[in-house]
Amino acid sequence: MSIRVLVAEDEPKVQKFIRAGLEQSGMTIDCVDSLEGVEQHLSTQSYDVLVLDRLLKAYDSLYSIPKLRKQSVQPKIIILSALSEVEDRVAGLDYGADDYLSKPFHVSELVARIRTLARRAEAGKEINRDSILKVGDLKIRLDTQEVFIGTVQVNLTAKEFKILTLLARHPQKIFSKAELLDRIWGINFDPESNVVEVAMTRLRSKMTIENQRPLIHTKRGGGYWLGQSDMTT
Ligand code: CA
Repeated sequence: MSIRVLVAEDEPKVQKFIRAGLEQSGMTIDCVDSLEGVEQHLSTQSYDVLVLDRLLKAYDSLYSIPKLRKQSVQPKIIILSALSEVEDRVAGLDYGADDYLSKPFHVSELVARIRTLARRAEAGKEINRDSILKVGDLKIRLDTQEVFIGTVQVNLTAKEFKILTLLARHPQKIFSKAELLDRIWGINFDPESNVVEVAMTRLRSKMTIENQRPLIHTKRGGGYWLGQSDMTT
């Protein structure tokens, strides 16, 4: 499988040199020259690795990393920088980059670093697939999409599974209707719509098991949260 790389570099000559080197190594490349370009590409496509030039159009791209990290698609990030001081390198890693390469560099060095990062990304996905999410008596198997409360298995639709997983990743966090609409259905808040209430009522009734403490709660006028009631105090 070809490694997918997004390259953000604003110097045309350097961009061309990187593209040629990576393509020669069999990687699939898209190039952009601004942070807007990065955000646009990340919101519509998935990449294994993002090669991010530190100074893009006079903007220090390190500051954008935390924001990029919040997007659902998270490639590994390698920073390219003419600043090679140890402090700059540490700053890069502190901001959440996975690797840092000083300019000038040999393209073979960049290729090797990208391969290492792509392998790490792949290994991370494996761990993710195997992982189990647990909150109190609730157990969610992310690999098989099976849900258990104690020893009882609960059958959910794909959408219900998505909602439950989101709530369970953030126990006791209150999710507003608007937030759920946005994150689960991908639509903007519409006060007329009762799609969230309907889905949550159905999900809660499926998740209510005799002799078990309730898991999903409604905060009046606020939203929904997941947790076992004795966790609220
Ligand atoms: Ca630059």
